[in-house]
Formats: sequence, structure tokens, C-alpha cells
Amino acid sequence: MAERCEIAVVGGGVVGAATTLALSQAGFDVRLLERSATPPTPGEDYDPRVYAISPASARWLRELGVWQAMPANRLGTYESMRIWESSPEKALSLDAADIGGAALGWIVEQSQLLSAIWAALPAGVAEPRCDVTAADIDADGATLRLADGRSLQAELVIAAEGALSPLRERAGIATAERQYEQLALVTHLRCERAHGGVALQRFLPGGPLAFLPLADGRRSIVWSLPPDEAEALCAQPAEAFHQALSAAIQFEVGVIGESSPRFTFPLRLLHAQQYVKDRLVLIGDSAHVVHPLAGQGVNLGLGDASALVSELGAARGAGNDWTSARLLRRYERSRKADNLEMLALTDALDRAFRGGSAGLSKVLDLGLSLLDRVDPIKRLLIRRAIS
Ligand SMILES: Cc1cc2nc3c(=O)[nH]c(=O)nc-3n(C[C@H](O)[C@H](O)[C@H](O)COP(=O)(O)OP(=O)(O)OC[C@H]3O[C@@H](n4cnc5c(N)ncnc54)[C@H](O)[C@@H]3O)c2cc1C
Repeated sequence: MAERCEIAVVGGGVVGAATTLALSQAGFDVRLLERSATPPTPGEDYDPRVYAISPASARWLRELGVWQAMPANRLGTYESMRIWESSPEKALSLDAADIGGAALGWIVEQSQLLSAIWAALPAGVAEPRCDVTAADIDADGATLRLADGRSLQAELVIAAEGALSPLRERAGIATAERQYEQLALVTHLRCERAHGGVALQRFLPGGPLAFLPLADGRRSIVWSLPPDEAEALCAQPAEAFHQALSAAIQFEVGVIGESSPRFTFPLRLLHAQQYVKDRLVLIGDSAHVVHPLAGQGVNLGLGDASALVSELGAARGAGNDWTSARLLRRYERSRKADNLEMLALTDALDRAFRGGSAGLSKVLDLGLSLLDRVDPIKRLLIRRAIS
């Protein structure tokens, strides 16, 4: 006998878990299927993966009751951001005052955020260690087969499985996709100069380097680099790595004293041509993957989640069919514009500063200033932060 629910969310990362929580609060009978174990309880050590969370995302997480459950002493607030290419004196500054708020965003560990969301899920909703091995999804409903032999019938399936999304692949949804020839190197550092709540980003020929303020006074870096350079830096002894990093940020952080283990992540660009097919809906990285230079991936995913849940909840509240193709297409249309805009902008910025693209090198030949090239991202980030 197949088990039944109204909505099955597959993938319990930040986006899938937050969607599940919001759906259950909206009164849906929802199940969350996650392939790996329950997120580990965060410990003393900081998670190497951190997200820059925008005020709009924080607001939605607060509405869900999650934000206020996170330990305040682990939220790194950043009030301004300095972005430059050749010289820190010519940096473009983006301040919280530009968005009329107290903060531009918060640097949050992935494990802290994930465990706060999972802890808020009602008992019995989430199934960790649950892999979907087959899916039969059409215009009338869905049946998911699980690795332990059970079947789950749902009226709607939401794929929040991350970039590789097996459900998207099985449904034959085409993607526009490109590997950035970069790895993102991440680590946390203690620096001589206090960060003062300021995030730094320098555009280098190999890719952008960001320094993000952590709550304990350290800084977290995301350094996008050609793979061979990233691997060489990972293999260096700490002192040589710190010196290379200090030089790359033009000594703006003073001496780098200690750093945590280094990790690398491959970077790609991906956009699904459809976010909806029959009763399958894509959200988060299953629908779009952007370059991390603007720190927007999870924020876009949370934007998908809140838009979808609000469409589904409103239809249900009005006694309408919340599985209708028309409603699901409305979600798709509303999110595609925002997501494509961020995807195109981050891609164009990465290419422009790396100077690798024939088309954009013409733009650089025109001698456009750093401000000319960064200003669109400033405007876009401001709009995103307050929307
Ligand atoms: C170096 C780096 C820095 C970044 N920094 C930022 C930042 O500052 N701010 C920001 O907003 N974004 C940032 N991002 C982007 C961010 O990491 C992603 O956008 C975000 O993790 C996507 O969340 P998700 O929940 O959609 O997918 P994921 O986090 O990939 O979660 C997918 C989940 O689905 C599960 N799953 C997959 N397949 C199945 C299956 N068949 N059955 C069951 N479960 C399954 C997986 O186990 C996983 O738990 C960064 C990315 C990188 C690489």
C-alpha cells in the first residue's frame, strides 16, 4: 500500500527544509525526503560553509520562526561592503544606509541555519536517510519509490535536490549549463585588523576574492580561482597561504594569523528551461545555480520558496485548485525573471573582470571604470535586499 501526502518535498537543504516548514505552517500535509542524515547539531567549531543572508531572506525566516531561534552570537552582521579591482582606495562602498536598514545582511553558517529549520519542523514530517529511487509524475499526480521499498503518492512534488537534481533529469527538463573553470576556496581566518562589520571583495584576473565578517571576529573567505591555482593554494603550508592571501587582498586585513582547514567547491552556472512540468516543481539550485560572487544562491532559493508557498497557500485558502498548471506557471514566471537577472549579472561580472570573453573585452576596451561595471550589482542588490 502506497503512503499518501499532499506535497512531497525532495531534498532537505536550506531551501527544501524551509519550504517544507512554510507549507506545513500553511496547513498542507507535506513530507520532506532527504537522502542524508539529519543535519548535525552545530558545535563550537564554525562550519566552513557560510551564507550571506539578505534582509529579505532573514525577514521570511523570521516569519517562519527560524531566525529568532538561531544563536545570536553566531550571526555575523555586515553593515557595509567595499568592492574594488585594482586599488582599495578606489573601492565602491555599499552601506546599510543605502537600503535604509541596520544591516546589509548576515553571515550565517549552513549547519546553524539548517539545524534551526529542521528543529522547527513538526514531528513526523521529515524523513532523513530517504532516497528517491524512481518517480512517476504526470499531470494528475505523482508516485515516488523510496530506497527502502516504500511508495509515496503525492499531488505535487517539489524538487529541492540541489544542482544535480535527479528528479529534474528524470523529467527530461533541459538546462542551460556551463562549468566555470574555477574552484571556490573557503576557509576562516583570524586577521590583524578588526573587520568592523565590513565585507570586502576584490575582483582579480583569476576570479573574485571575498572576505566576510564572522560573529567571533574572524573572517571567512570565498576565493574563486582557476582549479590548478586553488589546488596549489590548498596544498601550501599555512604561512605561505596567508602571505598569498594578504597580497591578493592588498594587505587590507593586516597580517593573517591563523586559518581553519581549507575546502574547495566546483562552480557552475545552470538554469532549467522549465521550473514546472506536470506536477513537478523545481526550486533552489535544482532550478538555477549562480556564481557565488554576489552571495545570492540560497537567497534566490528562499525567494522561490516563499513565492511558491504563497501561491499555493492563497489558492488553497480561496478554495481553488492549488495544483493547477496555471498557478504553477505563475510561480515559474514570477521567479524566472528575478533568477535570470541575477544569473546574467553575476556571470557578466565574472567574465568582465576576468576579461576572458571576447564580447566583454570590448566593453573593457572602452575603458569603463570599476564603478560603471559594479554599479548595476549595487542597484540590484539594494533592490533584492529590500524586496
Ligand atoms: C563556495 C560557495 C559559497 C556560497 N555562498 C553563498 C552565499 O554567501 N549566499 C548564498 O545565498 N548562497 C551561497 N552559495 C550558494 C548556496 O550554497 C546554494 O545556492 C544553496 O546551497 C542551494 O540550496 P538548496 O537547498 O537548493 O540545495 P542544496 O544545498 O544542494 O541541498 C540539496 C539537498 O537535497 C538532498 N538530495 C539530493 N538529491 C536527493 C534525492 N534524490 N533524495 C533525497 N534528497 C536528495 C541533498 O542531500 C541536499 O541535502 C554559495 C555556494 C558556494 C559553492
